[in-house]
Amino acid sequence: MRHKLAAGNWKMNGLSGDLAEIEALIAAHPAPKVEMLICPPATLLSRMADTVGDHPLHLGGQDCHAAPDGANTGDISAAMLVDAGARYVILGHSERRTDHGETDAVVKAKAEAARTEGLVSVICVGETLAEREAGETLGLVGRQLAGSLPDAPIAADVVIAYEPVWAIGTGKAPTSDQIAEVHGFLRAEIKRHMGVEGDGVRILYGGSVKAGNAAEIFAIPDVDGALVGGASLTAGDFSPIVTALENA
Ligand code: PEP
Repeated sequence: MRHKLAAGNWKMNGLSGDLAEIEALIAAHPAPKVEMLICPPATLLSRMADTVGDHPLHLGGQDCHAAPDGANTGDISAAMLVDAGARYVILGHSERRTDHGETDAVVKAKAEAARTEGLVSVICVGETLAEREAGETLGLVGRQLAGSLPDAPIAADVVIAYEPVWAIGTGKAPTSDQIAEVHGFLRAEIKRHMGVEGDGVRILYGGSVKAGNAAEIFAIPDVDGALVGGASLTAGDFSPIVTALENA
């Protein structure tokens, strides 16, 4: 049984005042039936952990460095994320792959650093529109998966997020058939790499998930939850997505 996961990526959004959204989210879901995760900017992690207190809402970072420490100005280590209250870390988001030139090898090194510190990596894969139109989607996400997984992964180490780049922040989600095709392919590839252990790896869909389309997306086989950007910033937008996953 895979425990469903509703994850929010706040990206470069959120100041102290936005901790009120976490208070509201917790109040709306005092005993959630699915796992909830919010990945705020690193500046808010520690204070958000205080806000969360004993509630089962998990927190995560949005990136970490592959090295444990050292002369890496502006970067954050996996141990620092744990120290600030994180249990997860998003790795290889398309914005990091594009804006920061992160390769699969870099993502893999970060996933290994995260595992060393006990963090669960949410490893993102996904094609651009040009790659989809060229019929390269499955080959591309298969290569990203193979290149980004840590060595000898176990299900507890990783979550995979399928995030088509063309669907992120655009309001254009793929069709259910398109999501089903990629998630089915990823499940088979994960099992090819990990054997039966791969049955326990959660595969999230990400890209323009909102209250209006969440139930339809969560009904697709091998969709174990969502990674949500814009609609995770307020409790009012994120809470109905959590409820849809609880009811899926
Ligand atoms: C994301 O960036 O991970 C994402 C899914 O964004 P949005 O939900 O805003 O499309």
